[in-house]
Amino acid sequence: MKEYKYWKKIGVEIQKELISKALAKNINYSQSPVLGLPGTKLDGRVFYEQAEFLKEAPFLQTIVQNPNHIGCHTVGESEPFFQGTQDIEKDVIQILSKDILQSQEDCDGYVTSGGTEANIQACWMYRNFFINTFNASCNEIFLIASQDTHYSVNKAANLLNIDLVIVPVDFDTREILPDQLDKHVYEAVKNGKKYAIVISNAGTTMFGSVDNPDDYASVFIKYDLNFKLHIDAAFGGFIYPIVNQNHNIGFNNKHVSSVTMDAHKMLQAPYGTGIFITRKGLIDNVFTKEAKYVNGMDTTLSGSRSGANAVAIWMILQTYGPHQWLEKMKILNYRTEVCCQELEKLGIGFYRDSHMNIITIKSADLPKELAVKFGLIPDSHDEDNNWYKIVVMDHVQQEALNDFISELKEFRSRERKVSLEN
Ligand SMILES: *Cc1c(COP(=O)(O)O)cnc(C)c1O
Repeated sequence: MKEYKYWKKIGVEIQKELISKALAKNINYSQSPVLGLPGTKLDGRVFYEQAEFLKEAPFLQTIVQNPNHIGCHTVGESEPFFQGTQDIEKDVIQILSKDILQSQEDCDGYVTSGGTEANIQACWMYRNFFINTFNASCNEIFLIASQDTHYSVNKAANLLNIDLVIVPVDFDTREILPDQLDKHVYEAVKNGKKYAIVISNAGTTMFGSVDNPDDYASVFIKYDLNFKLHIDAAFGGFIYPIVNQNHNIGFNNKHVSSVTMDAHKMLQAPYGTGIFITRKGLIDNVFTKEAKYVNGMDTTLSGSRSGANAVAIWMILQTYGPHQWLEKMKILNYRTEVCCQELEKLGIGFYRDSHMNIITIKSADLPKELAVKFGLIPDSHDEDNNWYKIVVMDHVQQEALNDFISELKEFRSRERKVSLEN
């Protein structure tokens, strides 16, 4: 059984006490003279500070107190006004980097607006790393990722003015085609590229497919290319490395330098709870020295952001603890598994990674009206989509999956009748 050093299950009463203490350590705008901050608690006419229920709701209490977590708190100094809740954010980064992503050492990181920001932050950091360390020019640097990669990477390439190379995947297995990867890297080198930024997926948005980061690494080693590798686990971060304890997508893999995890997907935290985590010694590459009014240094993309988001992530992690969270993820995977077995019996084509809760069904095998009725998501909103996906989230109960399967069965038998009659 895996040992967890930092991730513990903590009862509600103790959580409340710890969060109250953290809030008490933050600045209290009503009690201390704070003349210079361009921030304050939420507007009291609209958001009642004294409401009785706030005592029982530490997350809402934090929202009302409105701490600003501007900057990155795992490195250097931070704004002293919000140290209480910043310490909670540091706790979150510690739990995720060490107990889930298996780092032996401290990491840097912060709560982002989402996976998009975390992915852009990673690309920005590596682009500047190559510029600062090797005096690289932007046209010597390229981004590389699979065809199934999230479009935030296209945004990053566009913003950072670096080329993006997309590697095709096999239609059925969604695996990166090794000869295509080799060919694309070879071409990039031929075109004068010297530095690669890799986005390797741990759970793609459409398929839940997981790239093997070592496949990328071996090609770059073959071509003697400098590279930095980022794992996009925005969707898979709270399920894949939990359910698959022999994963190689964390800091136990020496090729991995940073990771995106979205708490507002599988962890069911409020939106605005993306997470960026990186090995030490890299984040200084995006230190904005002009950010002089921020105490310490701002090495983040966001600027001002709410401390309540970190508190929400912390509360969910501590409410479950590692074992109950594993159980919860196993239940989702069990439902997924049952549904897959039924699809197999019906001879319906689909893709699923055995550690993930996404089933992506070939649209050729699924009538459109069923996809619409059950709210499946197409890979493309054009007419020529190839796939529909089911994401087995918490609200996707076995009953709903069963209903879907029985309607599919009915449709199939009707279809068979028609073809027999003709
Ligand atoms: C959702 C997702 C993102 C983007 O995350 P946002 O939080 O929506 O910005 C990035 N990568 C993957 C794999 C995702 O599933």
